[in-house]
Amino acid sequence: MPEMQLAQFHAVTKQAALFYATFWLNTSSIAYSFYGVAPDWLVLPPICVLTPVCLLRTLHYRRRQSDAIEIEEAVRRLRVLTRFVHHIMTAVAIWCITLSQFGDQTTDLKILCFVILQALCNTFGLMHIPATALRAAVPFSLVGLYFLLFKGPDTQLASLTFLVMSNVAVTLSIIYYDVLLSRVLQHHQLKRLGDENLRLANTDLLTGLPNRRNFLQKLEAELAAPGAALDRMHLVLIDLDGFKPVNDTYGHLAGDKVLKEVGRRLSAFQERCEVARLGGDEFGIVLYGDRPAALRQAEEIARSLRQTYMLAQGCVNVGATLGIANAGEAKGEMLELMENADYALYEGKAAGRNQTVTFDLGHETALHHRNRMEQTLRDADLEAELSLQFQPIVCAASGQPVMFEALARWQSPLLGAVPPQNFIAMAEATDLIGHLTKILFAKALSAATLWPSGIGLSFNLSAQDLVNSETTAMVSQAIEAAGIEPGRITFELTEGGLIRDFAVAQATLQALKGLGVSLAIDDFGTGYSSLTYVHRLPIDKLKIDRSFVTELEESTACRDIVTSIIGLCRSQGLECVAEGVETEGQGQLLRSLGCDLLQGYGPGRPMWEKDIAGFIAAAEGERAASARQEPPTATAADRSAASAALEWNFA
Ligand code: C2E
Ligand code: CA
Ligand code: CA
Repeated sequence: MPEMQLAQFHAVTKQAALFYATFWLNTSSIAYSFYGVAPDWLVLPPICVLTPVCLLRTLHYRRRQSDAIEIEEAVRRLRVLTRFVHHIMTAVAIWCITLSQFGDQTTDLKILCFVILQALCNTFGLMHIPATALRAAVPFSLVGLYFLLFKGPDTQLASLTFLVMSNVAVTLSIIYYDVLLSRVLQHHQLKRLGDENLRLANTDLLTGLPNRRNFLQKLEAELAAPGAALDRMHLVLIDLDGFKPVNDTYGHLAGDKVLKEVGRRLSAFQERCEVARLGGDEFGIVLYGDRPAALRQAEEIARSLRQTYMLAQGCVNVGATLGIANAGEAKGEMLELMENADYALYEGKAAGRNQTVTFDLGHETALHHRNRMEQTLRDADLEAELSLQFQPIVCAASGQPVMFEALARWQSPLLGAVPPQNFIAMAEATDLIGHLTKILFAKALSAATLWPSGIGLSFNLSAQDLVNSETTAMVSQAIEAAGIEPGRITFELTEGGLIRDFAVAQATLQALKGLGVSLAIDDFGTGYSSLTYVHRLPIDKLKIDRSFVTELEESTACRDIVTSIIGLCRSQGLECVAEGVETEGQGQLLRSLGCDLLQGYGPGRPMWEKDIAGFIAAAEGERAASARQEPPTATAADRSAASAALEWNFA
């Protein structure tokens, strides 16, 4: 294991200086003991060679102690050290045996004493490299053996003790080595686990791409790098179009397969740019180069994502909308850059599927406006500034109002009248929607309690309300507090809201239904898979989107769609409401097609609460007159003119 060898090398280096110093001291004391006893040529030259060698090795190790070293180099040096130690110890052992020819028993014991000390030094000094320690021990064991065989009884006893001791020492060093080995292994495993954890924390497990956290960290570092070419850096946010239906229709496994394939296609661009999965069906890319080149590259990526995906269940087509923002324009601020790219993406989504939108000056102004609106909405006294208009929904056959749809209005002291599409979308994006819905619903209920008991209230719930676990409790409390019959209330839901998280929305709808209210799908026909939901949800009503009604008289395609929706309602036992009915012709046609209810500027424009009683009374008068076959007191034209005067003005 390379890490083990590196650890061995560092451990040996630490005690090398001490090892050479003791070795020199030992050999010097032997030389000193034999000076004048043995011939000078046998005593002096060895010590003259050993002194500079030991000094140089000591200095060498002292200097290199803190050096960082590659594993291969450490292994090489350990090998050199083993050879060196073996040769030098063999030479010293031979020197000792030769010297012992000249002394007496005292000098023999001195040699033995040296051999014991040096053997101990070798064993403990080299205990981290037991192979080397063993090779260093062999020559000294031979000296011990030589003394045991050829010297007097006292020396023999000491030699025997030495041989036993050196064996014990070597065994101890091997045990110590095992401990060291297990420690290094443990450390190595911990490090590997740590590395793996770090990798997992930075990787999206499904696609294998870097995850959001990793992407943002890298992006932040790149933006902050000194001398970063911000103008040549572009952030691209990608959102898949039509991914959700794949998930809902074919199941999550199929959805995962599509995401994996998206990851695979994106990773083909990884050499040229940073790619990551930011979550769900959202991906992020950092592109480099001038603007036209970045746009070209983004288009290339989009084309690759739009190619057909092959699943076991069949082929699916998923689109991609891209929002691009330049880092220079965001002044290198990560949050601003993200916000700009996100805004471009949002614009792309609003413009339809498969768009690539680059953040520009126009967007900057709009974003500034949006931010101002967001802040104003956050600071607003919503209880005072929000109000409701009510638009009648009439029976197609009799023209009598059946219910009123509550339509939110925000009169901001700072911004003036803000269109509901704008502030509702803003409230949804900022999680203020729950608060807004609560205020509006209470206001709507307080108005509806004053209406005749046969007149219902239709109230719009936003997509967010459907996935909010508190909605049902809020609704139930408000209904109870108002003391209104739940059967008079209808909630309008858009398909967009239903598909955001179908399972959760389904649960909310079941819970709402349990309260006794009715449910309607709003803007029906504009979603991409409308029919799928009708069977699976406890729906009572479909509201045909205005776009089909507007062109009803001119377009046969629209008429066919409306006819089939009405047919669907019939077969499913649902009520059918046509929205956006403006002309008498449209009303008549819808009536002849069998539509149950009509809503639009024709039957009545949205009106304030105070005008509802008059509207109902006028309609009642009309009904009574037609029952008596008398000319009506107020004509439809009068009524339309009256409600036109109430029209909400967004100036
Ligand atoms: P929606 O639910 O489809 O409401 C109908 C919209 O169509 C209303 O616009 C209404 O004024 C308009 N409209 C009705 N009849 C006609 C017609 O004959 N011709 C034309 N051209 N338009 C007609 P409004 O009030 O601006 O509301 C727009 C959208 O804002 C609503 O669409 C709804 O999605 C949302 N909204 C309004 N109030 C609320 C609310 O209290 N909560 C939630 N979540 N959304 C709301
Ligand atoms: Ca509606
Ligand atoms: Ca609608």
